[in-house]
Amino acid sequence: MVDEMALRPSPAGRGWALWSLPTRAVAVVLTVEAVAVAVVLSSAATPLPGEAALAVFVVLLSVVHTELATGIERIRRRTAATSYFDLSSVWTFAAALLLPTLLTAGVVVAVYTHLWRRVWRPAKVALHRHVYTTATVVLAAAAAHAAVRSVGGLPEGPDDLGGILAIGLAILVYITVNTTLVAGEMSLSSGPTGLRDLLGRLDDNALEIATLCMGALAAVALTAAPGLVALALPPILVLHRAVLVRHLEQVASTDSKTGLLTNAAWRTEAARTVGRVQRASRAVAVLILDLDHFKTVNDVHGHLAGDDVLAAVATQLRTGVREHDVVGRFGGEEFVVLLRDLPTGQAGRTEMFAVAERLRRRIAGLDVVVDTADGVLTVNGLSISVGGAAFPADGAALEQVMRVADASLYAAKRAGRNLVRIAGPAEIPTPRSGS
Ligand code: GH3
Ligand code: MG
Ligand code: MG
Repeated sequence: MVDEMALRPSPAGRGWALWSLPTRAVAVVLTVEAVAVAVVLSSAATPLPGEAALAVFVVLLSVVHTELATGIERIRRRTAATSYFDLSSVWTFAAALLLPTLLTAGVVVAVYTHLWRRVWRPAKVALHRHVYTTATVVLAAAAAHAAVRSVGGLPEGPDDLGGILAIGLAILVYITVNTTLVAGEMSLSSGPTGLRDLLGRLDDNALEIATLCMGALAAVALTAAPGLVALALPPILVLHRAVLVRHLEQVASTDSKTGLLTNAAWRTEAARTVGRVQRASRAVAVLILDLDHFKTVNDVHGHLAGDDVLAAVATQLRTGVREHDVVGRFGGEEFVVLLRDLPTGQAGRTEMFAVAERLRRRIAGLDVVVDTADGVLTVNGLSISVGGAAFPADGAALEQVMRVADASLYAAKRAGRNLVRIAGPAEIPTPRSGS
């Protein structure tokens, strides 16, 4: 399953750091694990010899898959040590469709033990997280198995539409159980998180569905002619590459110091937005922001402290605008913000000014705790100058609007810094308001 969220390394590094979680999270983890054990034990029935052999075969396939995929995933870990995409649900889901719960649980435990040794322990994921993930997969597989049985099992002939629907239902149940258990535990252990973070991004879910579809095809192949399952391996490995490409795209478009978009990625996004606005009768605004006398921060506290300040400023900018506005690092100590979906005319300009002023105040009120050669210090008294311009009022293309916003920024600097200046025919008054 795709479970990047649940697999962040614990602050305590590897090991059994479960007790460091909030009590409610510990209670949920232990309950889910106990329920998984109870479900497996209550389903205990002597497996048929053919079923046991099939379980061993599925585990072998998963081992081969992991061994082939770790080459691809190793590249990923070089670029980000904190995440790993696990597509082993191809095999755990195939097992859930074909085997009784006891044997499926055996497959899950074997697959996850192998993954732990080969992938997650080296990636320093906390053991308790891995055990919890294993329990959630056991429960998701048991629920999917029950769902498929309750509606008549896998397709048994060319006309068996019910069998196909059963697979669809099993996919839905597997994802729902898994997402609920992972998201629930996450929100309890790391505090309130956006719904989007909790439920995973849309393309992560699409990947999970693709993986489960491969699992369903593998299950059907295993019942028809087990050798056919070899055909599933190349597409699964290509799926790993698709994840790798997407991940590298994300790394390439993110500024590593601030976590904001890079200049190039911001421009691509801004140009796309401007293109869309041309077809709608709305406006967008560009703000260019430059920290005042930032060189002094470096000179007084050192460049590493300067980097911490840049990261703190970036966080203020990101959290100071709406989710769909686009924040990027223009370069050095300069930032760019694209405000989407503003009204045209004076109303839009007034809104742009209000947002810019809010950002300016946020930076003026910012305290950043930094670790310097002289010990831990708080940097404050920061300020930022802001220039703004709007599309389509101030230019017919993004480049032009940015030039106008840049000129406004220089006007703010010349007028004394810690100021907002918005370009345009009817200049909006920009009283200096202390902080
Ligand atoms: P002004 O008010 O005119 O903008 O003054 P300023 O000191 O901010 O401007 P100047 O352009 O003279 O200096 C910008 C400084 O930003 C100099 C440079 O060392 C610092 N800087 C640029 N990028 C980084 C970075 O990634 N990390 C750190 N720590 N400093 C950076
Ligand atoms: Mg500058
Ligand atoms: Mg500056």
